[in-house]
Amino acid sequence: MNLEEETKFLIKKYNINANKNLGQNFLIDEQVVENIIEAAKISKEDVVIEIGPGLGTLTNKLLEKAKKVIAIELDNKMINILKDRFLLYNNFILVNEDVLKINFEKLINEQNIEKNTIKIVANLPYYITTPIIMKLLEEKVPAKSITVMIQKEVADRLTAIPGEKETGAITYCVYYYCEPQKIMVVPNTSFIPAPQVSSEVITLNVRNSTPVQLKDEKRFFQIIKASFMQRRKTLINGLANSGIASKEQIKEVLNSLELPENIRGENLKIEQFAEIANRL
Ligand code: SAM
Repeated sequence: MNLEEETKFLIKKYNINANKNLGQNFLIDEQVVENIIEAAKISKEDVVIEIGPGLGTLTNKLLEKAKKVIAIELDNKMINILKDRFLLYNNFILVNEDVLKINFEKLINEQNIEKNTIKIVANLPYYITTPIIMKLLEEKVPAKSITVMIQKEVADRLTAIPGEKETGAITYCVYYYCEPQKIMVVPNTSFIPAPQVSSEVITLNVRNSTPVQLKDEKRFFQIIKASFMQRRKTLINGLANSGIASKEQIKEVLNSLELPENIRGENLKIEQFAEIANRL
């Protein structure tokens, strides 16, 4: 049976109606599965945290290659299938929870996992791509890399160079913590049911040291978020409206950095945002 036949078989056997609200688009392309595993460079030393295992397509391959797989799935129907398929594996841990509510630190401690062995791999539920990535980064989940399938449009934003086209607040956050890498574009025909958008696999390689030095990390991200909240506004208006600082204070900092007073957040390089945050 190939992957498409196997997926259709499982869908029929367990009487599954893919739940759109949970972003359920199941992978049926063997080559894409191989490429994800290869991009994540999974070895027997790695503990993989998989988000949204669904019917277990990626999980199956990950269990073969990794030391341990911790799979986090919200949908009870999927949980039953995953239990049937993999509960006899002694390297499989199934967590029935909402990934956005998971306490990763507690999970990692409870499972006694060495921090430098963790890799995150997922075909993510697209409706919560950004909150999941932000949670992993902001909570500093101690992963070596994050290899995920996401919408192509979001992949462009996550892998852009900050200050160039297609950036958003998340571009700076990703770049601060990781070196992003595009792996492959995946057509919608690689899934059942086919999503309406194209997808892309990316790897975020977590940096050992940050690319800019900050006095206050929290303040830095607060400033970036505020300046993207009101996209069409100048940096001065965006930051002043969010109560970060007064217009005069921001003008002074921009002048000291020889930046034009009408500059917008999306035109700033990460080094410039860092300087502004350090001076404000
Ligand atoms: N990994 C499978 C595959 O590649 O075929 C399924 C991927 S599907 C795009 C996303 C999966 O995430 C679904 O199984 C869905 O039930 C699960 N999911 C959705 N929201 C979730 C949440 N908040 N927490 C954990 N899992 C979630």
